[in-house]
This record gives sequence, C-alpha cells and structure tokens, in this order.
Amino acid sequence: MIKTLNIKSRARTEFIDITEDVQQIIRESGITSGMCIVYTPHTTAGLTINEGADPSVKRDIITALNKMVPFDGDYQHAEGNSAAHIKCLLTGVSLNLIIEGGKLELGTWQSLYFCEYDGPRHRRVIVKIV
Ligand code: ZN
Repeated sequence: MIKTLNIKSRARTEFIDITEDVQQIIRESGITSGMCIVYTPHTTAGLTINEGADPSVKRDIITALNKMVPFDGDYQHAEGNSAAHIKCLLTGVSLNLIIEGGKLELGTWQSLYFCEYDGPRHRRVIVKIV
C-alpha cells in the first residue's frame, strides 16, 4: 500500500507534525505488524522524529538550524536557497518505522515531522506500508 500526503507549508522554515496522518494511513491499510517507510521527494525539505509534547522544542530546533545554516552565506547556487538544501541533508528525506499492534512503534514523546526549509510551498510525503 502506498499513499501520498499533500502538505501546504506556511512559513520559510517550519516543522509540521504528520504523526496522526501517518497513523491514519496505517489504520486504513489494516496492517498490524510491518514496516512504514515515509519519504519526501524534495531537495529543500526533510523528515525527522523529535519531541511532540512541548511546542517550544520544535521552535528551538528551528532557531538552532537557522543559526547553524544562515539564509545568507557564501553560497554560489543561483536559486538562492542553498541554506534549504543544506538543512535537507541534515535531517534527510526518509524515515523507516516499525508498525506493531496496528500503529507506529514510537516513544512517548516522539512525533514525526515534515520539515519545510524553503517555504511556503506545496509538498508531498509518500508513505509506503509493507
Ligand atoms: Zn535550489
């Protein structure tokens, strides 16, 4: 089973919680034990797992990423979004997750995030259940 999530980011840099969307796809698949591959086919966005309980964690991560990889720097890429390409490689574009008991095997505080680094834009996240 394969499904696409259509995501609309609203900021230049933004983390969007997609945990419930992915859990819903798993429920619809009826698979109780397996693998879930989450992938985003972009070079200026990413995916990661981090704390979902306290929204200030997400904010602090974005602040730190923007400090580590400034928007303006000694970049040559003519499109002007090199910072977004670099942030993409820091988080990567795919996640391999375990499905057990019909849901994602996640820690208590873990959430799945789509990471926008060059928004606002329309984006895709592809979810494959095996
Ligand atoms: Zn570019």
